[in-house]
Amino acid sequence: MRESCRSVVHSPHVDRTLVRLLASQALSKIVGSHERGRAMYRAGAVLAVTIGAEHAVSARVRSATRARAYSVSGTLSHGRLYCQCAWGGDCKHVAAVLFAIAQASARCHR
Ligand SMILES: [Zn+2]
Repeated sequence: MRESCRSVVHSPHVDRTLVRLLASQALSKIVGSHERGRAMYRAGAVLAVTIGAEHAVSARVRSATRARAYSVSGTLSHGRLYCQCAWGGDCKHVAAVLFAIAQASARCHR
């Protein structure tokens, strides 16, 4: 899980416990993309995640073919993130980012 510790950056004032909860809640709304999202996360497709004030998320995720990267952004508190891919959200890229956030918030201590 070191990988996700490097790729997920929390701003200092973010509550990690709350972030993990919000990520889990958002994941529960996109069940259809769970497995593919988890596989992408494990394959290291999540390049970078930044969590800022108001739980705003900004992330980059490699496409399955690794031919390009998609931007994923939104506000965790709103329970939904948006993706640059054709689906626009509720997709495996968003699921991968949420897995990275949930894992990093649970296991990384800095
Ligand atoms: Zn997507």
